[in-house]
Order: sequence, then C-alpha cells, then structure tokens
Amino acid sequence: MIFGKKKPKPTTDGPALNAEGVEIPTLEIKTLGIPKDELQGLSIAARQLPGYPIAIVLLANAITSRADRILVDYSAQGAVARYRIDGNWETLPPMDRPTGDAALVVLKKVLGLNPAERKVKQEAKFATNFKDTDWVISFMSAGVQTGERVLVQIDTKKPTLKTLNDLGMREAMQVTFKELMNGHKGIVLISAPAGQGLPTTWRVGLENTDKYVRDFVSLENKAEAEAEIINVTQNLYEPGVGDGPDTVFEKMLLKQPDVLVLPSLISSYIAERTIDQITKNDKHAVTRMVATDSVDAIIKLISTYRTEAKDIVKVLSGVLNQRLIRRLCDKCKQPFQPTPQLLQKLGIPAGRVQKLFQPTIPPPPEQRVDAKGNPIEIEICKKCNGRGYHGRMAIFELLIIDDPMRQTIFKSSGNPDAIRQFAKQRGHLGFQEEGILACALGETSLQEVQKMMAAK
Ligand SMILES: [Zn+2]
Repeated sequence: MIFGKKKPKPTTDGPALNAEGVEIPTLEIKTLGIPKDELQGLSIAARQLPGYPIAIVLLANAITSRADRILVDYSAQGAVARYRIDGNWETLPPMDRPTGDAALVVLKKVLGLNPAERKVKQEAKFATNFKDTDWVISFMSAGVQTGERVLVQIDTKKPTLKTLNDLGMREAMQVTFKELMNGHKGIVLISAPAGQGLPTTWRVGLENTDKYVRDFVSLENKAEAEAEIINVTQNLYEPGVGDGPDTVFEKMLLKQPDVLVLPSLISSYIAERTIDQITKNDKHAVTRMVATDSVDAIIKLISTYRTEAKDIVKVLSGVLNQRLIRRLCDKCKQPFQPTPQLLQKLGIPAGRVQKLFQPTIPPPPEQRVDAKGNPIEIEICKKCNGRGYHGRMAIFELLIIDDPMRQTIFKSSGNPDAIRQFAKQRGHLGFQEEGILACALGETSLQEVQKMMAAK
C-alpha cells in the first residue's frame, strides 16, 4: 500500500484521483513568496499535469517515512530518488526518465520555477500541512555533470526537540550541563562536527537555562542568524552595513546583560572584551565551535584567538561535544545476554549489565522463503518498517575544565593527545564510553556505536 494507512482528509472538491482511480494523498503545496491568486492558478495547472500523482506521492511518502531529505538524480538512464531517514540514505526503486521528468515538471511549475531550465540552479520554498503537522520544504535543482540533481529539505515548522532529554542526554550529565550553563564567571563551549546537530543542541541548551531570571543577550551575524530563542535578546550586525560587530557588542553591554550568547567570538576585540566582562563584571558566556570532540574544540578555540588563548582557558568552564546516532526501535528491539568476553571488551565490569539490545532487521523479500522456496510470512514492525531503528539521539561528551585541566592545556602547547590522555586518566568519559552507556540503557546498539566511532 503506497499511500499509508491513514485516509487523507477529503478536501472541498474531494480527494484527487489519478488515471487508475487511486487516491492521491492530500498534500497541498503552498509556495512561499508568491501572491495568493497567482498561487491558486499555479496549483490548478499543476494538478492537470500527468506527473502530479508521482510528485505528491514522492513527497508524502518521504514525510510518512520520516525522511528529512529527498535527493533525485536525473541521468540518461532515468531518475533515482533517495530518502534520508535518521541520517541514512535509502534508495527508492528507479523511475524511467519520462516518469521522473513528469514529477519534476509539476514541482517546478507549482513553485513558480522554469520547468525547461535543467542547468541553472533554481530554488524555492513551500509550506504544507500533512499528517497533522506544519512543514516547511525547500526545493533546489541544478545541473550536474551527469544530468540534473534535485535536493528537497523537509523541516517541521516548529522545532520538535525541546528538552535535553529529547536530545538523548543522560540525566546525570543534564544536571552537570545545566550547572555549567547557569554558572557564573565562565565560558561554556558547545561543539559538534559539521552536520551533527550543533544548531539544535545550541538552541535546546539555551532554552533550558535560567534565562527567565538572568538577562541573556546574543550577538549574531544577520546572514547566519538563527531563529530567535525566547528570552534571549538578539543583537544583529551586518558586515559592511551600519555598526560593525565591535560597536554592536559595546552597545549591547550598556544594557548590563548577565549572559553573553556568542555563536562566534567574532574578533580578538570581542574575545578580549568578553573575558574582561567575565573576570571584572561577573558575566557569563556561551559560545560554540564546529569540532570533532571536546578537546578538538578547545584547540580550535585557542588557535583562533592566539593572543587571548591563555585568558580564554582561564575562564573556560566546560566543553560539550556530540555525535548523532540512531535510536533502537523500542517496539522491536531484541535483548540479548552479553558474554563475559564481550563485557570485558566493552570495559563493562562483570555483573553490571544483564542485557544489551540489537535491532530486528527482517531478511530482504527474496530471502523470505522456506527450504522448498515457498514464501513465508514475516511480520514487519509497523513502527520502524523493518529498519530496526526509529529516530536519532546524540551521544554527548562533556569535558569539565577545572584548574588541573587548565594547567594541562597550558602545558600541552596545542597537542590534543596530551589533553585527551589527562582527561582519560581522571575518568572522563569519551564517545566510546558514553556510547556503551547508551547501549546499556537500551537506547542504541553496539553496531551504531561502532559506526559512530569509525566515522571521520
Ligand atoms: Zn521496530
């Protein structure tokens, strides 16, 4: 069944039917930035096109399977669509070129783009309501060497992740992290590798602070600024237009804020002034960095601000880093008793963990046969659709910076291994240890932790 179990809500003119009389899911494309009457005309015209059902089913199925990206590659051979689900790309059965082209014509038409243009980059955004959720979907098409590539990005209109729990942070770490964020006279550094959910953790981290009793203010580049966070007053600057960041920063300080939220320290001047505010005026600061782990984040921060490095380390109080991992589907995950050898290999003391879990992955359809070649019925989990995983979480590494750690950073002269070794000696848990903890809690599998550790 391609349209999912839920029957689409009937619209005023009844659900659309394609040539075979099959019901097309009700997914209305409301192109953003186009006047309403013009949009209506485009929408009606698009519905008449032969590719309409294919385009709508492609979008609807993506949302139903929780994909956050659709990638379609057009080549001489045909069109291949992929869905990204929980960070994994899944390839759909290939379409022949006319079918793929027909779907693309519909999307370009309804988005007010030029269907005949297959080379120059075209972009548009649209809103839709589907499965009782508001979505904002970005469309991009551009010519590539082999033909044309289409990328569709699917986001919920409102953020769905709200608490540190939602992100997967274990409870004891939540307590420590909140203490850091709500602390005084320090800098908290939030970091993650590229594409590993840093903006989400930044937002959720800030949303879960005591910003109702203290004044939080942010300084952000207008071009890179993210959605405003309630009770964090945004101060924007635009390079080359009006006041520069240094001036906006000084104006911001006049209001005597308590916590400086700086997605980047921007300049030596701002780094120096921030440290000044922390040491002399009891202010607190939060900043962030793209980095592979906490130690890498420290090295990057101090090598970006060499002159201020020593003073930054003096006030740095903690560094958070994260990597994304798939959550086991709680409907079909299977417990198993780990052997003593496995526990030893994982560094888990004997008797501590009675069971670990693994995903249920059904054999591919061609293998669902008995010894005589007769097909056998295999029940596929309805929640995860046989993927064994449902949703993602972050594995966090939280490094506390105290005086002995500061001394080590000073002495390391930028050598990350010396810092990592010292942290390990003191019992700091890195990604591997945190990942195994998540396995022991039944949240993910050893295979996922292995994959996370092997990723560059
Ligand atoms: Zn399942």
